[in-house]
Amino acid sequence: MSPFPRPDYRELSTYHFDRSPIDVDLSDNTNQWGAHPAAAAALMAAVDEGLARYPELYADALRDAVAERLGVPAACVTTGCGSDDVLDSAFRAAAGPGAAMSYAAPTFAMVAPLARMNGMAARAVAWERALASPETLLEGEPSLIYVCRPNNPTGHLAPSLWVERLLDLADTTGPLVVLDEAYVDFGADSFVRHAVERPRLLVTRTLSKAYGLAGLRVGYGVAAADVAREVEKSRGPYKVSRVATRAAAAAVRDREGWVARTVAECVSCRERLTRELRTRGLSPRESFTNFILFRAPGGDAGADSAALRARGVAVRPFAGAWDGGRDALRVTVAPWPLLERFLEALDARLTELGEAEEAL
Ligand SMILES: *Cc1c(COP(=O)(O)O)cnc(C)c1O
Repeated sequence: MSPFPRPDYRELSTYHFDRSPIDVDLSDNTNQWGAHPAAAAALMAAVDEGLARYPELYADALRDAVAERLGVPAACVTTGCGSDDVLDSAFRAAAGPGAAMSYAAPTFAMVAPLARMNGMAARAVAWERALASPETLLEGEPSLIYVCRPNNPTGHLAPSLWVERLLDLADTTGPLVVLDEAYVDFGADSFVRHAVERPRLLVTRTLSKAYGLAGLRVGYGVAAADVAREVEKSRGPYKVSRVATRAAAAAVRDREGWVARTVAECVSCRERLTRELRTRGLSPRESFTNFILFRAPGGDAGADSAALRARGVAVRPFAGAWDGGRDALRVTVAPWPLLERFLEALDARLTELGEAEEAL
């Protein structure tokens, strides 16, 4: 008889971070310009069609919209309840007995837990090592390799030639390479075209960031048709609700150009905020995303983020994510008036730290 829970589940926990109400929430990289306007209208129309019936088995309306927008065959697209669901399904499809996954770290906090939930060993390879030699990600013969590009939480963009070398290594018989493009809309080139042609590449995307639809829970993946089919098998039917399918399809088509407009504003605020942080000596990382990672001013990410929270601004603390294992903070880029609130809180913290130092 097998025990409940399975022994490896004892080490897992539910996902937690402080989400108590706050004035300015710059902690989770959601879209501070709001939700895609086409989504709400499509959502109401879908409600009018009725909720008593099941949605399409595999979100065909959304799959078609994605295929049309990206210029790829519909058979190469898979969808899910958030891109987390697409990742989870891909991991499950790769997780045979004794299977391992490896990833370039630090990266998306959900990735190692998702692997473990699916019974896979998760092996972290430091970004410096992985970038110096993509072979390091294949050590231990993983069945899946996860790379986030641009990366959360550092904001950096792995060179495209490096990704191509990794894909050459994965070849036709090697591990599935999962390239998470959650932030690709904020200024990176995409590997979606390669995904259609390469035998072992799944590119995942989300509606939760540039499209402003985190509350809807929709994501998708693009891969060769046989890879996409394996992920769909693992995911199962009815995962994207009827209303979410319609709303997401309208947003993906983006007939109004809302995404390009808000992304341009976001990028301009990002560059301005980068300069402000640099002025304060906080060495912000160059970012290709809608957030910026910078050195924790007091050296303790927990204490620094608590001090900002006490002044009404939430950012995300990252212990050990900075060079030499030091602490960092991640701030989501927002319309400038919100970033002014952030800078006021940050300046108050810097003054406090300066006074504490003087008192020593
Ligand atoms: C926010 C984020 C996602 C999005 O997940 P959803 O489940 O689609 O909301 C995926 N990957 C990374 C790296 C992220 O930061």
